Amino acid sequence: MPLPIAHSMAGYAIAEATNFRLANNKWLNVSIFAALANLPDIDFLPGFLLGAPNRYHHQLTHSIGFSLAAGLCGALILWWWNHRKMARQDIAATKNSFGIYFLIVAGAVFSHCVLDLFTWDSWPPHGMPLLWPLLERYFDVRWDIFLSVRKSDDSATFFSTLFQWFNFKIALREFLIMAPLVGLVKLIRRLPGLLIRRRPVDIKNTQVAKLGLLEISSLPPEQANRRSLTSLAEAAEQDDSER
Ligand SMILES: [Zn+2]
Repeated sequence: MPLPIAHSMAGYAIAEATNFRLANNKWLNVSIFAALANLPDIDFLPGFLLGAPNRYHHQLTHSIGFSLAAGLCGALILWWWNHRKMARQDIAATKNSFGIYFLIVAGAVFSHCVLDLFTWDSWPPHGMPLLWPLLERYFDVRWDIFLSVRKSDDSATFFSTLFQWFNFKIALREFLIMAPLVGLVKLIRRLPGLLIRRRPVDIKNTQVAKLGLLEISSLPPEQANRRSLTSLAEAAEQDDSER
Protein backbone atom coordinates (compact mmCIF):
# COMPACT_ATOMS: atom_id res chain seq x y z
CA MET A 1 0.00 0.00 0.00
CA PRO A 2 1.12 3.60 -0.49
CA LEU A 3 1.30 5.66 2.69
CA PRO A 4 -1.59 8.03 3.49
CA ILE A 5 0.46 10.79 1.79
CA ALA A 6 -0.30 9.63 -1.77
CA HIS A 7 -3.94 8.85 -0.99
CA SER A 8 -4.46 12.19 0.81
CA MET A 9 -2.91 14.12 -2.09
CA ALA A 10 -5.24 12.28 -4.49
CA GLY A 11 -8.15 13.40 -2.28
CA TYR A 12 -6.82 16.97 -2.38
CA ALA A 13 -6.60 16.84 -6.19
CA ILE A 14 -10.24 15.67 -6.39
CA ALA A 15 -11.32 18.44 -3.98
CA GLU A 16 -9.55 20.98 -6.22
CA ALA A 17 -11.09 19.52 -9.38
CA THR A 18 -14.73 20.04 -8.39
CA ASN A 19 -16.87 23.04 -7.47
CA PHE A 20 -18.97 20.85 -5.18
CA ARG A 21 -17.89 21.06 -1.56
CA LEU A 22 -18.43 18.56 1.22
CA ALA A 23 -18.00 21.34 3.83
CA ASN A 24 -18.07 25.14 3.69
CA ASN A 25 -14.65 25.55 5.27
CA LYS A 26 -11.95 25.00 2.62
CA TRP A 27 -9.56 22.95 4.74
CA LEU A 28 -12.34 20.89 6.34
CA ASN A 29 -13.54 20.15 2.80
CA VAL A 30 -10.02 19.04 1.76
CA SER A 31 -9.67 16.96 4.97
CA ILE A 32 -12.93 15.11 4.24
CA PHE A 33 -11.78 14.34 0.68
CA ALA A 34 -8.43 13.11 2.05
CA ALA A 35 -10.20 10.91 4.64
CA LEU A 36 -12.43 9.42 1.91
CA ALA A 37 -9.36 8.67 -0.21
CA ASN A 38 -7.89 6.72 2.76
CA LEU A 39 -11.16 5.04 3.79
CA PRO A 40 -10.56 1.56 2.23
CA ASP A 41 -7.56 1.05 4.55
CA ILE A 42 -10.05 0.86 7.42
CA ASP A 43 -9.73 -2.88 6.81
CA PHE A 44 -6.53 -2.76 8.89
CA LEU A 45 -8.68 -2.15 11.97
CA PRO A 46 -10.30 -5.58 12.60
CA GLY A 47 -6.96 -7.34 12.08
CA PHE A 48 -5.21 -4.81 14.31
CA LEU A 49 -7.71 -5.47 17.11
CA LEU A 50 -7.06 -9.22 16.73
CA GLY A 51 -3.26 -8.75 16.86
CA ALA A 52 -2.49 -9.18 13.12
CA PRO A 53 -3.13 -5.90 11.19
CA ASN A 54 -2.68 -7.40 7.70
CA ARG A 55 -5.14 -10.27 8.22
CA TYR A 56 -8.11 -8.58 6.46
CA HIS A 57 -6.19 -6.04 4.38
CA HIS A 58 -6.97 -5.72 0.63
CA GLN A 59 -10.37 -7.32 0.98
CA LEU A 60 -13.84 -5.99 0.18
CA THR A 61 -13.18 -2.37 1.16
CA HIS A 62 -10.82 -2.23 -1.85
CA SER A 63 -13.58 -2.69 -4.43
CA ILE A 64 -15.98 -0.81 -6.69
CA GLY A 65 -18.88 -2.16 -4.59
CA PHE A 66 -17.54 -0.58 -1.39
CA SER A 67 -16.78 2.70 -3.23
CA LEU A 68 -20.34 2.92 -4.59
CA ALA A 69 -21.81 2.09 -1.17
CA ALA A 70 -19.66 4.82 0.40
CA GLY A 71 -20.80 7.22 -2.35
CA LEU A 72 -24.43 6.41 -1.62
CA CYS A 73 -23.99 6.89 2.14
CA GLY A 74 -22.05 10.15 1.61
CA ALA A 75 -24.66 11.55 -0.80
CA LEU A 76 -27.50 10.62 1.59
CA ILE A 77 -25.76 12.32 4.51
CA LEU A 78 -25.06 15.48 2.43
CA TRP A 79 -28.60 15.51 1.03
CA TRP A 80 -30.04 15.21 4.55
CA TRP A 81 -27.68 17.93 5.84
CA ASN A 82 -28.50 20.36 3.01
CA HIS A 83 -32.22 19.54 3.25
CA ARG A 84 -32.23 20.70 6.87
CA LYS A 85 -30.57 23.98 6.02
CA MET A 86 -32.21 24.97 2.75
CA ALA A 87 -35.42 26.87 2.15
CA ARG A 88 -38.25 25.10 0.32
CA GLN A 89 -37.48 26.67 -3.08
CA ASP A 90 -33.92 25.33 -3.01
CA ILE A 91 -34.85 21.69 -2.36
CA ALA A 92 -35.03 20.99 -6.12
CA ALA A 93 -31.37 22.09 -6.40
CA THR A 94 -30.44 19.71 -3.58
CA LYS A 95 -32.07 16.81 -5.43
CA ASN A 96 -30.06 17.67 -8.53
CA SER A 97 -26.79 17.64 -6.62
CA PHE A 98 -27.45 14.21 -5.02
CA GLY A 99 -26.02 12.45 -8.08
CA ILE A 100 -22.96 14.71 -8.14
CA TYR A 101 -22.25 14.09 -4.45
CA PHE A 102 -22.65 10.34 -5.03
CA LEU A 103 -20.09 10.45 -7.86
CA ILE A 104 -17.47 12.58 -6.14
CA VAL A 105 -17.60 10.62 -2.85
CA ALA A 106 -17.48 7.28 -4.69
CA GLY A 107 -14.68 8.66 -6.90
CA ALA A 108 -12.62 9.81 -3.94
CA VAL A 109 -12.92 6.37 -2.30
CA PHE A 110 -12.19 4.50 -5.53
CA SER A 111 -9.07 6.64 -6.13
CA HIS A 112 -7.60 4.64 -3.24
CA CYS A 113 -8.01 1.38 -5.16
CA VAL A 114 -6.42 2.89 -8.28
CA LEU A 115 -3.30 3.99 -6.37
CA ASP A 116 -3.10 0.64 -4.56
CA LEU A 117 -3.21 -1.12 -7.94
CA PHE A 118 -0.03 0.70 -8.94
CA THR A 119 1.74 -0.32 -5.74
CA TRP A 120 4.06 -3.27 -5.24
CA ASP A 121 2.03 -5.68 -3.10
CA SER A 122 4.29 -7.66 -0.76
CA TRP A 123 1.57 -9.45 1.22
CA PRO A 124 -0.79 -12.19 0.04
CA PRO A 125 -3.44 -12.07 -1.30
CA HIS A 126 -1.76 -10.07 -4.07
CA GLY A 127 -4.03 -7.43 -5.58
CA MET A 128 -7.61 -6.72 -4.52
CA PRO A 129 -11.17 -7.77 -5.43
CA LEU A 130 -11.53 -4.63 -7.52
CA LEU A 131 -14.83 -5.53 -9.24
CA TRP A 132 -16.60 -7.12 -6.25
CA PRO A 133 -19.53 -7.92 -6.15
CA LEU A 134 -19.53 -8.42 -9.94
CA LEU A 135 -16.37 -10.55 -9.90
CA GLU A 136 -14.68 -12.26 -6.94
CA ARG A 137 -11.21 -12.51 -8.51
CA TYR A 138 -8.25 -10.39 -7.40
CA PHE A 139 -6.78 -7.77 -9.72
CA ASP A 140 -3.27 -6.37 -9.71
CA VAL A 141 -1.04 -4.67 -12.27
CA ARG A 142 2.68 -5.21 -12.78
CA TRP A 143 3.43 -1.51 -13.35
CA ASP A 144 4.28 -0.53 -9.78
CA ILE A 145 4.80 3.22 -9.37
CA PHE A 146 4.63 3.16 -5.58
CA LEU A 147 6.69 0.94 -3.32
CA SER A 148 5.32 -1.22 -0.53
CA VAL A 149 5.61 0.11 3.00
CA ARG A 150 7.69 -1.97 5.42
CA LYS A 151 5.52 -2.78 8.42
CA SER A 152 5.09 -5.43 11.05
CA ASP A 153 2.16 -7.86 11.09
CA ASP A 154 2.07 -7.68 14.87
CA SER A 155 -0.22 -5.04 16.39
CA ALA A 156 2.26 -4.40 19.23
CA THR A 157 5.02 -3.29 16.82
CA PHE A 158 2.90 -2.16 13.82
CA PHE A 159 3.18 1.62 14.32
CA SER A 160 6.79 1.61 15.54
CA THR A 161 7.94 -0.26 12.40
CA LEU A 162 6.33 2.40 10.18
CA PHE A 163 8.89 4.97 11.39
CA GLN A 164 12.01 3.79 9.56
CA TRP A 165 14.29 5.36 6.96
CA PHE A 166 13.03 3.15 4.10
CA ASN A 167 9.43 4.27 4.69
CA PHE A 168 10.55 7.92 4.87
CA LYS A 169 12.08 7.54 1.38
CA ILE A 170 8.81 5.98 0.18
CA ALA A 171 6.87 8.96 1.60
CA LEU A 172 9.17 11.38 -0.23
CA ARG A 173 8.77 9.41 -3.47
CA GLU A 174 4.97 9.49 -3.09
CA PHE A 175 5.04 13.26 -2.56
CA LEU A 176 7.25 13.83 -5.62
CA ILE A 177 4.97 11.67 -7.79
CA MET A 178 1.69 13.21 -6.61
CA ALA A 179 2.76 16.88 -6.36
CA PRO A 180 2.86 17.45 -10.17
CA LEU A 181 -0.59 15.84 -10.45
CA VAL A 182 -2.04 18.19 -7.82
CA GLY A 183 -0.24 21.13 -9.49
CA LEU A 184 -1.67 20.16 -12.89
CA VAL A 185 -5.23 20.03 -11.52
CA LYS A 186 -4.81 23.46 -9.88
CA LEU A 187 -3.35 24.89 -13.11
CA ILE A 188 -6.21 23.53 -15.25
CA ARG A 189 -8.74 24.99 -12.80
CA ARG A 190 -7.16 28.43 -13.01
CA LEU A 191 -6.41 28.37 -16.76
CA PRO A 192 -9.69 29.94 -18.00
CA GLY A 193 -9.22 32.91 -15.65
CA LEU A 194 -5.62 33.34 -16.82
CA LEU A 195 -6.47 33.09 -20.54
CA ILE A 196 -9.62 35.24 -20.64
CA ARG A 197 -8.66 38.87 -20.12
CA ARG A 198 -11.37 41.05 -18.71
CA ARG A 199 -12.15 43.81 -21.21
CA PRO A 200 -13.57 47.13 -20.04
CA VAL A 201 -17.37 47.28 -20.45
CA ASP A 202 -18.77 49.86 -22.87
CA ILE A 203 -21.75 51.23 -20.98
CA LYS A 204 -23.53 52.08 -24.27
CA ASN A 205 -23.63 48.37 -25.17
CA THR A 206 -25.17 47.14 -21.92
CA GLN A 207 -28.69 45.71 -21.94
CA VAL A 208 -29.92 48.59 -19.78
CA ALA A 209 -28.66 51.14 -22.32
CA LYS A 210 -30.14 49.18 -25.26
CA LEU A 211 -33.55 49.16 -23.60
CA GLY A 212 -33.40 52.94 -23.34
CA LEU A 213 -33.35 52.88 -19.54
CA LEU A 214 -30.02 54.66 -19.32
CA GLU A 215 -29.70 58.28 -20.33
CA ILE A 216 -26.17 59.13 -21.35
CA SER A 217 -25.32 62.76 -21.88
CA SER A 218 -21.91 63.82 -23.13
CA LEU A 219 -19.74 66.15 -21.08
CA PRO A 220 -19.42 69.79 -22.06
CA PRO A 221 -16.50 70.21 -24.51
CA GLU A 222 -14.35 72.16 -22.01
CA GLN A 223 -14.64 69.30 -19.46
CA ALA A 224 -14.48 66.33 -21.84
CA ASN A 225 -10.71 65.99 -21.68
CA ARG A 226 -10.41 66.25 -17.89
CA ARG A 227 -8.95 63.15 -16.38
CA SER A 228 -10.80 62.53 -13.16
CA LEU A 229 -13.85 63.38 -11.12
CA THR A 230 -11.58 65.38 -8.83
CA SER A 231 -10.46 67.55 -11.72
CA LEU A 232 -14.10 67.92 -12.83
CA ALA A 233 -15.04 69.09 -9.33
CA GLU A 234 -12.10 71.50 -9.31
CA ALA A 235 -13.20 72.84 -12.70
CA ALA A 236 -16.75 73.33 -11.44
CA GLU A 237 -15.45 75.26 -8.41
CA GLN A 238 -13.27 77.36 -10.68
CA ASP A 239 -16.22 78.17 -12.95
CA ASP A 240 -18.30 79.20 -9.92
CA SER A 241 -15.57 81.53 -8.63
CA GLU A 242 -15.16 83.10 -12.10
CA ARG A 243 -18.86 83.90 -12.15
ZN1 LIG B 1 -5.28 0.29 0.59
